[in-house]
Amino acid sequence: MRNRKRNVLGWLTGWLVPLVLFTGCTGGGTAEKYSTHFYGVFDTVVEIQAYAENQESFQRFAESVETRMRELHQLFDIYHTYDGMNNLKTVNDQAGKKPVQVAEEAIDLLSLYSEWYTKTGGAVDPTLGPLLAVWHDYREAYQSDPSQGRVPSEEELEAAAQLCVFSGLEIDPEASTLYLKHPGMRLDVGAAAKGYAAQLAAEESSKEGVFSYLISAGGNIIASGAPCDGRRSKWAVGIQQPFAETAGQYADVLYVTDCAVVTSGDYQRYYVADGKIYGHIIDPTTRMPAEEYHSVTILGEYSGISDLLSTAAFILPYPESRRLVEENGADAIWIFSDGRIEATEGAVQVMRDLG
Ligand code: AMP
Ligand code: MG
Repeated sequence: MRNRKRNVLGWLTGWLVPLVLFTGCTGGGTAEKYSTHFYGVFDTVVEIQAYAENQESFQRFAESVETRMRELHQLFDIYHTYDGMNNLKTVNDQAGKKPVQVAEEAIDLLSLYSEWYTKTGGAVDPTLGPLLAVWHDYREAYQSDPSQGRVPSEEELEAAAQLCVFSGLEIDPEASTLYLKHPGMRLDVGAAAKGYAAQLAAEESSKEGVFSYLISAGGNIIASGAPCDGRRSKWAVGIQQPFAETAGQYADVLYVTDCAVVTSGDYQRYYVADGKIYGHIIDPTTRMPAEEYHSVTILGEYSGISDLLSTAAFILPYPESRRLVEENGADAIWIFSDGRIEATEGAVQVMRDLG
């Protein structure tokens, strides 16, 4: 992946709730604040706030972000095909048959996954598709009829796991192809696609001359530059209280600048069977939903990597999880299933309540 530097800050929706607190604008200009949102990508709403010289400038920036995120959504989609484009569904459909030529961004994303497959000891694995599909189907069945909350059998999980073969993924950057060597293999890049797409869209859209912005895409927050209200120097990002009875309850508030803030959690995408909650983040070693935490929030430089890291940190046992975060120069806040909160030193420094 191209490690393009991004400047960021946070605002939110859903997982991370944006509280409004800004600071002086480094440019010292007279920028106005604008905001917009759009739907239809990565199963979430994308919210954009930015300080721009004028409405037209903001609109060009926002349209660039939206256009790019729509393109990347289509490229990383595993459920639909699109005219004139090979995407990850095409790669899945050709499993066991032939390599598929895809756009460079798909090669970059899968290469990033490969790197982090190794770094996380296999906790995040882009070839878990067959196993994730089983859980996905059970979750959907519950969503269409909550009396249908059931847990897949061990046999079903075992059969799916047989098709999750990381070594069966061949990435050829020269030919720009992806190949799943065995029939039935299936990619799923849900753990990082959103954060990665938001990162590329943000970086590339800066060419429109807007540098003070917040982009929030379902648990992935990117902010860049200092907000130009001339009053504050930090953005405030609320970390949602898992399973809060009313919206807008925060477990804590982070005051950040130039940072990607990414949360993985079990409290938004889950289903219930026999009174037990089954989240959407699956531990490859048990084939079951990870359940040590309700959420893990990563503070990092890049939203693509932070997104991978949030999913991995959500799966790994706490000592390993913390080591992974710290060894990779990130910060994190863990909200355990029993409500306990832990945070790295760097995170404590920006937390309202623990900081
Ligand atoms: P996130 O919300 O970023 O933690 O991503 C969760 C999504 O990642 C799930 O909905 C799945 O699509 C995918 N996923 C779940 N478990 C794993 C895993 N162990 N490795 C890779 N992807 C996973
Ligand atoms: Mg993630």
